[in-house]
Amino acid sequence: MRDFDAAALSAKGALLRTQRAQLKSEISRGQHSIIELFDRAGEPQCDPVLAGLRVEWFLRSIPGFGVTKAQRLLDGVGISPRATLGGLRVRQRARLRRDVVCLYRRYFSHDRGKLVILVGPSGVGKGTIVSSITKKHPQFVVSVSATTRAPRSGEVEGVHYFFVDDQRFDQLIRDGELLEWASVHRLHRYGTPREAVEAHMDAGRHVILEIDIQGARQVKRAMKSALSVFVAPPTFDELERRLASRGTEDESERAVRLATARAELAASGECDYVVVNESVDVAAQSIVDLVLASTSKAPNKE
Ligand code: 5GP
Repeated sequence: MRDFDAAALSAKGALLRTQRAQLKSEISRGQHSIIELFDRAGEPQCDPVLAGLRVEWFLRSIPGFGVTKAQRLLDGVGISPRATLGGLRVRQRARLRRDVVCLYRRYFSHDRGKLVILVGPSGVGKGTIVSSITKKHPQFVVSVSATTRAPRSGEVEGVHYFFVDDQRFDQLIRDGELLEWASVHRLHRYGTPREAVEAHMDAGRHVILEIDIQGARQVKRAMKSALSVFVAPPTFDELERRLASRGTEDESERAVRLATARAELAASGECDYVVVNESVDVAAQSIVDLVLASTSKAPNKE
């Protein structure tokens, strides 16, 4: 009986080793999402093939990582070479995840989508341009911001904005969940949720941020590879006319927006490109062309 148990156990061990070798080979051929695999290994019901994979082997199997990078990551977090993915302590897991994500993103930045910051005064037509881009080019998505301002009629939660109160906005800031945020027109706060942006970029989609100049500066500082485009009106008079015909603001709110617009126009030189919105289709296509041209260059190092 004991012999039988020993034989069964050894066969089971051999099978696990074979399956693990198969998994390593799949990882090295880029057949798995690294972060998803890492997260799955931490779940209580994870299958033993993945949970029992040594962290060192997991790291070494990631395309482009190799022995040196794997060792540096293990040393950095203080993980023993014998530790398995399923056996990491909570803090080790969190630190290693952060380091792997960081390195992985830098290494594969050429496969990631681009971050496109669209800046320009209220009423210049950024929203219409963005709709035109996302309708015709499914690899472009727009980030949905969080804001403390009240919804306008027709605006939908989670589509136009995530409408939150001041307390929730404070919480988002405290938890580091915003890529950037700013108080716009000195009236309300607006911010870009970080997680959704990163997930889209990881999936190779280009993410458009329709934000103000203060937010654009913050994003540019954090992500040098982001592309900033200033959408300018043909003339200031035309901007005034468009804002009035939109009819979504009363006169005093319009005056605030026009004052912000003058300051924003003065800062247009800070952006990588300026696109004049004479025609929505032409402006939209120019922005798409700029993004596609920039992604066909060498991978960026940031
Ligand atoms: P509105 O209240 O007209 O929807 O937006 C006013 C302005 O807020 C927009 O023109 C845009 O520049 C800015 N904005 C919208 N979302 C964000 C955001 O997430 N971050 C920052 N910094 N500005 C934003």
